[in-house]
Amino acid sequence: MVLTSTFTPRNFREQSERASHDATLRAVLDHATRYFMGKRGAALEAFADRDTHFARARSARLTALSRLPDLLEQLERSASAAGTKVHWAADAAEGRAIVTGIAKGCGAKVVVKGKSMVTEEIALNPALEATGAEVWETDLGEFIVQLAGEPPSHIIAPCIHKSRADVAALFREKLGLADLSDSASIPELTLLARRALREKFLAADLGVTGVNMAVAESGSVILVENEGNIRMSTTCPPVHVAVMSLEKVVATLEDAADLLRVLPRSATGQKMSSYVSVLTGPRRADELDGAREAHLVILDNGRSEVLADPVLREALLCFRCGACLNSCPVYQTIGGHAYGSVYSGPIGALLSSLLLPAEDTRDLPFGCTMCGACKKTCPLGIDHPNLMLRLRERVCAGKPHFIGAAHAFLASHPLAYRLAVGAARAVDPRLDLLPRLPGLPSGLASFVESRQPPGLKSSFSAQLRAGRKKQGGA
Ligand code: SF4
Repeated sequence: MVLTSTFTPRNFREQSERASHDATLRAVLDHATRYFMGKRGAALEAFADRDTHFARARSARLTALSRLPDLLEQLERSASAAGTKVHWAADAAEGRAIVTGIAKGCGAKVVVKGKSMVTEEIALNPALEATGAEVWETDLGEFIVQLAGEPPSHIIAPCIHKSRADVAALFREKLGLADLSDSASIPELTLLARRALREKFLAADLGVTGVNMAVAESGSVILVENEGNIRMSTTCPPVHVAVMSLEKVVATLEDAADLLRVLPRSATGQKMSSYVSVLTGPRRADELDGAREAHLVILDNGRSEVLADPVLREALLCFRCGACLNSCPVYQTIGGHAYGSVYSGPIGALLSSLLLPAEDTRDLPFGCTMCGACKKTCPLGIDHPNLMLRLRERVCAGKPHFIGAAHAFLASHPLAYRLAVGAARAVDPRLDLLPRLPGLPSGLASFVESRQPPGLKSSFSAQLRAGRKKQGGA
């Protein structure tokens, strides 16, 4: 995995600290995440037999992961039979080389792109630009962050961190719209972006998109969106490249339908997205539109290793609805950029820890309150807290753990336990002094620094005595 911004997961602590003090960011995030959660809640309320549909969606994803090598080979066969050229990329560098090779091969001067986290993951845009092509993100949110020179900060809402006034200021500067007011409405801003992009679609030589699902039995790629930009990116240019991470395969169209019933409801609170494109090979002789040349790039980039872990592979069930981000108190406080990776929030902390080098991501699994809101929200039933714990174990493996060791000692030595707790009760029952104790081991110091200890209650026997006294007195 490759990063494209000045934020890095290595600096997660500092970046989170800074973001958590940004009142404007917090207000924007609060508004946006509430909005998404509200829409999702209403959609799920009206979703008859919701649990059955969730179970079917999880089952489709579990089937895909359990048969992944076979399904990918089947996908290659059926997509090739439909006329799609299938490419395999072991890592980000290979992924970039394949797509830039296609761009050079068709002499691409203008490339239009649909929103795709996996192309962000492999830092495709700079590589395409290095071939001399203009590259345009055509999803409104992606277009905005591209103009701002920023990475996306949410899986489905890339510019969630920007206010309407921020976007107006950006358009004034980057689109030469000096008269644009800060109070421009969202429809007005959308229209301006649309005008700027329309000519790019018409001039494009190459369209690049991600893949929501790829169907092994038919060789189709399925793309879900609300703006029509993906449909334009896949039908206007003569060449289309779809880039998928390998876990996006599903066995059958029926499995895809099971996922499509759940994905839009969980992502944007819609029964169905405005556009669902099912592309099976390039344009046929009797068809009016569509790319004349279709490519599918299947990217591994570390996922095979994740798949080999019987517990952590669960993270690969994710179909990127983004709901766990909206429900997460940490994401609501710090937003997406602080994670320093294209994937943010609970699922982002997991995926980044699994796909990026361990030394860069050691703090990510600790940026979690273990409240379980993500697990409760996830329509695929991914147990994020359990996976976080597993990653924490990995990070701490082989290291002396002061708190754990001290606890183990006290728990196995009753006299020492009574003495330590008795002394603390006598001197500092609310544990206010604890963070200020000199010479505290660094692990414990940072632990107590960022937490308010709950204080010590009186001992059980003292509570019992007090209770009896009260009863006797009553
Ligand atoms: S982990 Fe679950 S809730 Fe989060 S983005 Fe993936 S599917 Fe959606």
